[in-house]
Amino acid sequence: MISIVAPVYNEEQVLPELHRRVAGVMDTLGEPWELVLVNDGSRDRSAIVIAELNRQDARVKGISFSRNFGFQVAVTAGLDFASGDAVILTDADLQDPPELYPDMIAKWREGFDVVYGVRVSRVGETRFKLWTAKLFYRLIRRITKIDIPLDTGDFRLMDRRVVKAIRSMPERNRFLRGMVPWVGFRQTGVPYERASRYAGESKFSSVKQMLPFALDAITSFSYLPLQLATYLGFFMAGLAALAIVAVVLVRLFGPSAPLLGQATTLVAVLFLGGVQLICLGIIGEYLGRIYDEVKGRPLYLIDQLWGFEGGSDK
Ligand code: UDP
Ligand code: MG
Repeated sequence: MISIVAPVYNEEQVLPELHRRVAGVMDTLGEPWELVLVNDGSRDRSAIVIAELNRQDARVKGISFSRNFGFQVAVTAGLDFASGDAVILTDADLQDPPELYPDMIAKWREGFDVVYGVRVSRVGETRFKLWTAKLFYRLIRRITKIDIPLDTGDFRLMDRRVVKAIRSMPERNRFLRGMVPWVGFRQTGVPYERASRYAGESKFSSVKQMLPFALDAITSFSYLPLQLATYLGFFMAGLAALAIVAVVLVRLFGPSAPLLGQATTLVAVLFLGGVQLICLGIIGEYLGRIYDEVKGRPLYLIDQLWGFEGGSDK
């Protein structure tokens, strides 16, 4: 069986169309399938729409959170509940076309464990979003050891054993786009054109919405920001050693006037103070996340389930 998992946050207009398109593709394939919709504390009628879809078609199953827990957690819950031999992760807004599923499934049958959707083009996204996304993925690739494929999002098929591996990773700060490559196994990509949203609006468009995601990504896969303090420290100490020699030489052999002005001292003190505060802030970013992990709170709380009466993993 193939499970299709989609996180849902305020997508009431999109869900019936998502179901229609997914059913259209999967029924022509003739594979048994389920559509697992994770309602991430939507403020609109999404929960009601999911319940209604489940009533019409038992292959649609739903999980409703007690509040909004965020995209990564919603996807995690979907993976926890999906029972397919392969799981396809997709956005609910139809930016990831269901028409690509047959290609993905074909690759999976060939023996690949992860099949990414690789965006060859993106329609209807702002220049700002395209540009920041590009910069972000290039940066991440440089500073982390794992090989995150370029121009991929969360749209992907995963074999059951990859899903099992992801389920066994209990981390609170989840960056799935890094966790899946970390798992390993045989991974490949299929190209597709990323459509624009079917309806509604993007939940990740401003810097305020994207920055926490970027910070989670970097801190959960790289120590480089922490090591930056060490490098800077060595550089500054080296500079200071040279300055000491210079000062001694000037004192012994140079003119007798005072060597350095107040302004220079002030600038040096302020600069180093700034650098030290930045380094402390970086440590704080990691420390806060360690605190989150140590608290060990559940990742999500469930309010309602539809279609899982017959038993699930949770
Ligand atoms: N989403 C979610 N929880 C959130 C924000 C978004 O489950 O807190 C879902 C949303 O319903 C959609 C997917 O995550 O299915 C991707 O969101 P969106 O399309 O707004 O992001 P974009 O494609 O613009 O990056
Ligand atoms: Mg979208």
